Amino acid sequence: MEDFYRENILDHYRHPRNKGRLENPTHSHEESNPLCGDVIRIDLHVTDDDVIDQVSFEGQGCAISQASASMLTEMIQGKTLDEVKQLGKEDILEALGIEVGPVRLKCALLSLKVLKAGAYGLPDWTGEDEENW
Ligand code: ZN
Repeated sequence: MEDFYRENILDHYRHPRNKGRLENPTHSHEESNPLCGDVIRIDLHVTDDDVIDQVSFEGQGCAISQASASMLTEMIQGKTLDEVKQLGKEDILEALGIEVGPVRLKCALLSLKVLKAGAYGLPDWTGEDEENW
């Protein structure tokens, strides 16, 4: 079963979904993970009803960081901001489906951090309170 998930991660890494920039994003945010050199930027277009009708990401870095960003964009398309607020690290880890050690966890969760900071403008995402996601 791990093989399936590894293949899936590589597939997202090699063929990222929703990669690029939006022309008119309502939200845009970028952060990096200096431990690994990963960079992720997520653009959102949110309607007046708080529905994410367009999402895209750009980035570079390791397979885990890029694949989880690609998976996340698929996860949140068509969802409301309230629904996105409920997403936590378990959702990302479940999508990845493999054991992620403490160092790789920062890679895996970078896109979620970018999304939440971008969507809610959370000012201080130092990563210290990741346990509370
Ligand atoms: Zn990484």
